Amino acid sequence: MRFRAAAILAGFAIVALAGLAPAQETDGARAVRLPPDPPEVHLGFRPGEDRRVVDWDQATAYLEVLAGQSDRVRLDTIGRSTLDRPMVLLTITDPANHARLEEYKATQALLADPRRIDGPGLREELIHSGRLVVLITSAIHPTEVGGSLAPLDLAYRLAAATDSTLLKVLRECVVLIVPSLNPDGVDMVAEWYRESIGMPWEGSPPPFLYHHYTGHDNNRDWYSFTQIETRNVVERVYNVWHPQIVHDIHQHGPYGSRYFVPPWTDPIEPNVDPLLTAATNSLGTAIAWQLLREGKKGVVVGSGYDAWSPARAYAHYHGGVRILSETASARLATPIEVAPGELQTENRGGSGGAAWNDPVPWRGGNWSLTDILDYMESGALGLLRAAATSREAWLENFVSVGERAATGWPAWPAAWVVPAQQGNESEIAELTRILRTAQVEVDISTGVLTAGESSWPAGSLLIDMRQPYAAFAQMLLAPQAYPGALEYPGGPPKEPYDVTAHNLPMLLGLRAEPTSQAPAGDRERLEGRPEFRPRHVEGLSGRPGLLVGLYQPWVPATDEGWTRWLFDGYEVPYATVHDQQIRQGDLARRFTSIVLPSVEAPVLDDGWAPGSMPVEYTGGLGSAGVQALREFVEAGGTLVALGRSASWVAERLNLPVVDRLRDQPKEVFFAPGAQVSLQVDTTTSIGQDMQPRVAAWIEGGGAFDLPARSAAVSVATYGARPRVLSGWVHGASALAGASAVVEVPLGSGSVVLFGIDPQQRGLSMATFPLLFNALRPAP
Ligand SMILES: [Zn+2]
Repeated sequence: MRFRAAAILAGFAIVALAGLAPAQETDGARAVRLPPDPPEVHLGFRPGEDRRVVDWDQATAYLEVLAGQSDRVRLDTIGRSTLDRPMVLLTITDPANHARLEEYKATQALLADPRRIDGPGLREELIHSGRLVVLITSAIHPTEVGGSLAPLDLAYRLAAATDSTLLKVLRECVVLIVPSLNPDGVDMVAEWYRESIGMPWEGSPPPFLYHHYTGHDNNRDWYSFTQIETRNVVERVYNVWHPQIVHDIHQHGPYGSRYFVPPWTDPIEPNVDPLLTAATNSLGTAIAWQLLREGKKGVVVGSGYDAWSPARAYAHYHGGVRILSETASARLATPIEVAPGELQTENRGGSGGAAWNDPVPWRGGNWSLTDILDYMESGALGLLRAAATSREAWLENFVSVGERAATGWPAWPAAWVVPAQQGNESEIAELTRILRTAQVEVDISTGVLTAGESSWPAGSLLIDMRQPYAAFAQMLLAPQAYPGALEYPGGPPKEPYDVTAHNLPMLLGLRAEPTSQAPAGDRERLEGRPEFRPRHVEGLSGRPGLLVGLYQPWVPATDEGWTRWLFDGYEVPYATVHDQQIRQGDLARRFTSIVLPSVEAPVLDDGWAPGSMPVEYTGGLGSAGVQALREFVEAGGTLVALGRSASWVAERLNLPVVDRLRDQPKEVFFAPGAQVSLQVDTTTSIGQDMQPRVAAWIEGGGAFDLPARSAAVSVATYGARPRVLSGWVHGASALAGASAVVEVPLGSGSVVLFGIDPQQRGLSMATFPLLFNALRPAP
């Protein structure tokens, strides 16, 4: 509450100038607090006005004023972003609760770990006296521009509230708001959009990732915590406050529902406590009901978004519900007109009419930022109002989830053991870092561990599966049995919302063993967690005379960002290279190898169409780029092509290999993201130092056939009988006998094609060496 006096004075002056001065009341000798300033007083525009977006300085400056003016609002910094902007947390509750925040935090910590609740009646007392903690997060995807503005309005509306339902919210709840999970992106998008106004490309998404490394995938990081923004929020908000409810504000495309809120569709990941699923269903439908009572249309539940992947749902494994909301988009802050025929109707049975989960369909028309904020804010306030009426039920639900986990579920083993002496310490450190960041208790054995016939050496990790966050451990340590299904017999596969696997030991190339008996033996509890730190690759990191060109398309590709993140972390010498530089040729003078991350073929060929973007961002590699890449390889360079780019390279360079999955319909083969067994030829230069069998990530997938007597080298294959180790691949038999990684000589150089993703979301350490070896020149 810095600068309160000054801010109140400043606010008073500005309010008066703006003609919005509230009637001042006097109350004897007591100082009377003025209502806080609404955002427009400081932003210079009303949130929701067409073509007006906010940048991070404006947003935080207003929030500082608000915190100074209101004794309901506190503003804290919770760390810095990737590009060094401050990340902030608003704590909003009534002043009486503010005076007892530490007490409520302590109550939350006890409810989060029911093993520590002892003494008769204490459980009930804590439930009775505690406060419901609701975390609202927003603007992780800053092209969803309503998400950058809504938190300012929401904070103001709570700070200024006088109606009884919101006063109840303030009494019953501690409302935490992280106004942006990605402040760097808020500025990137604001700057891009402001410059686009009046141009033909006004309202189009920017030609770069809106998170420095991960773009949209910053919301796929909530179980691996690779990015600093995720760690700031997990460690300084989730792990401190243990929210019972998390409301994550998003926007989806312009042609779907106007507003989505859970229930989720199936499948729901089996380690999510059913009490959380039931609570989600109840709260989500209550929000939808509230919006319909306000006369809003196109409010849809139970459609499109499943709850399989933990990548977006830290809360699901920490006793909380995650209420995603998705409001329909305009063109950034530029309004649109939606014709009835443009509306997607598959969300509601394909009829276009009213349905159980869309009782009052929206029929099209004008859609603007005003509408977006109206729906977003109504949803968030509806959530708070509904939650506040059942505070004790939420706290009881929360402690019950923890109790059930601390007792152990019947489906869980007694413990997991990660044996010592597997020969990969940095991978074990990474596993430990992830589990410990999520507050999973991890022991390290100081002697031999035994359980039944099994024994493990000293230094093994032991995860007891009777602890509050055991669900997080089980979800990551056990392989996934995804319930894949077809739309109808013989029809296409039912597509999951996201990937279908997340087995951490396989991603890291580690063994983890479940035990039905609790192991015996001496052990110590690991405190803290290993730091997240850059690593070293022999012969590659910082090597002089070596420069990798990493292709960055102007149609942003998350795979490029993840690859760049990997290169930065491992100190691979690289330079970003765009279409123009590749088309200009003469690449061999500059680069030893060039990496094409996974990019769609039309983007590689053509990029943005002329006129659709400023000219410097238009055009793809085209035939000039293909020719330049060929000359680069023929002159001795190494071209590494990942995922979708591999198939494109094989065809455009007329390589003597064929991707048998190219143009296959989904009815035949569909790999939405799974882990498959890979057989590596360790006698090849790219397969050296690898285990002969590893789990590899397949998404989309490439499966290469080498003609007889070809000079191409098969580095790794899917095996004669392909095995899906975790997750779902429909039609996996199509991989039989095919190569997953091939090296094809061309002139004096070579092309390396990856049908698997060796660097999946920055986490698949088991297969990083395949990529690094491909880049490392022969000694
Ligand atoms: Zn989003």
